[in-house]
Amino acid sequence: MATALRARFTGDLSQPVPIPEDAISRAVELMRSGRLHRYDEVRTGGSEVAALEAEFAAYLGRSYCIGLNSGGCGLFLAMKAAGVQPGDVVLTNAFTLAPVPGSIAHLGAQARLVGTTSDLTIDIPHLTHQLDQGNVRCLLLSHMRGHLADLDAIAGLCAERDVLLIEDCAHTLGASWRGRPTGTFGAAGVFSTQSFKHLNAGEGGLIITDDPVLAAKAVLLSGSYMFYGAHGAAPPSEYFAQLRYEMPNCSMRMSELVGALIRPQLAEVAGWREAWNARHDRIADFLRGVPHLHVPLRPPEEVYVGSSLQFLVEDLRADEIGRFVAEAAAHGVHIKWFGNDEPKGFTSRYHDWRYLADQSAMASSDAILARVCDLRIPVGLPLQDCVLIATVIEEAMRAILVPETSR
Ligand SMILES: *Cc1c(COP(=O)(O)O)cnc(C)c1O
Repeated sequence: MATALRARFTGDLSQPVPIPEDAISRAVELMRSGRLHRYDEVRTGGSEVAALEAEFAAYLGRSYCIGLNSGGCGLFLAMKAAGVQPGDVVLTNAFTLAPVPGSIAHLGAQARLVGTTSDLTIDIPHLTHQLDQGNVRCLLLSHMRGHLADLDAIAGLCAERDVLLIEDCAHTLGASWRGRPTGTFGAAGVFSTQSFKHLNAGEGGLIITDDPVLAAKAVLLSGSYMFYGAHGAAPPSEYFAQLRYEMPNCSMRMSELVGALIRPQLAEVAGWREAWNARHDRIADFLRGVPHLHVPLRPPEEVYVGSSLQFLVEDLRADEIGRFVAEAAAHGVHIKWFGNDEPKGFTSRYHDWRYLADQSAMASSDAILARVCDLRIPVGLPLQDCVLIATVIEEAMRAILVPETSR
């Protein structure tokens, strides 16, 4: 039987956000000067990282910001600066990326996982249950792939129990809940400037907070030597008078090159959000009509940034999902499937973090994670490619639904 002509996508879904030309010029100028370290006793003019800290704090409406070498180190430092100790219990999402449990292990704290809903947000009844086990020091809430749970409810649950709330905002720069930006609901928010997030400098991280003691500790822990006065959004020097003798230098500084690359990108975030969402929503609307696919619902309180798209494959066996993913890949659309037996590329499930002491199974989350599919959406994806990509996915589904005998 002749194979019907099938749609094929030939673009590249892995394309990171572009580096603006003025950022490139600034980075080249910096390299010519050789002054790539944020602290420099003789620099004339300010540091790029310090300027970024001031701009980033203002952008999110927080008093303090600390630039770092990565988002994962930002999570570690935010918890450490907030007083989380080795051995403390830290709750976090079962559906998140490996650097999140990694940051808890880095601190020597104990991760305890909280399940996910089929809309890919933290399961609030399970969170409440875990909080009520007592002994919880911190909730490291990961807005994995940009899906926001009810942040007012979560902030309330943590406040009632005196549990620290730290937000992982790796996928939510530009996002908000009831008009309030993510990263501002708890003690601190942590952002990433790794290439596949909303700002691209290869690597990098930023902590925001309104707590001057947390901020001063994070500055010193980041490796400020006695240059804490050269920060762009740090508390006044009296906060450092004693702490500077007490905080270890963990050498997690942001490079000047990262600062130079990121500063011009901050102005692009609102425009990129529009571009991402136009593409995300086109593909999502189409996929809602494809059999067996569930696209998570987004609550009206949420302003999201659709830099990636997730859907769940319902009522199919694992081998059928595997064939569906292979069919789509054969036609140019590489879907990341979190249900694979073995972790691949950037995917991983909590089962794969075997160093965690708490490995208790969560049956309903397991059933959801086994069905999660993920696509990255480049901000510059040609709009007409959205229907093409969705068509490839639809045809892949139809191909595997055709009974064996009629092939
Ligand atoms: C990327 C990511 C991080 C960590 O960021 P890095 O800068 O790569 O360390 C944390 N959480 C989530 C959900 C991420 O996707």
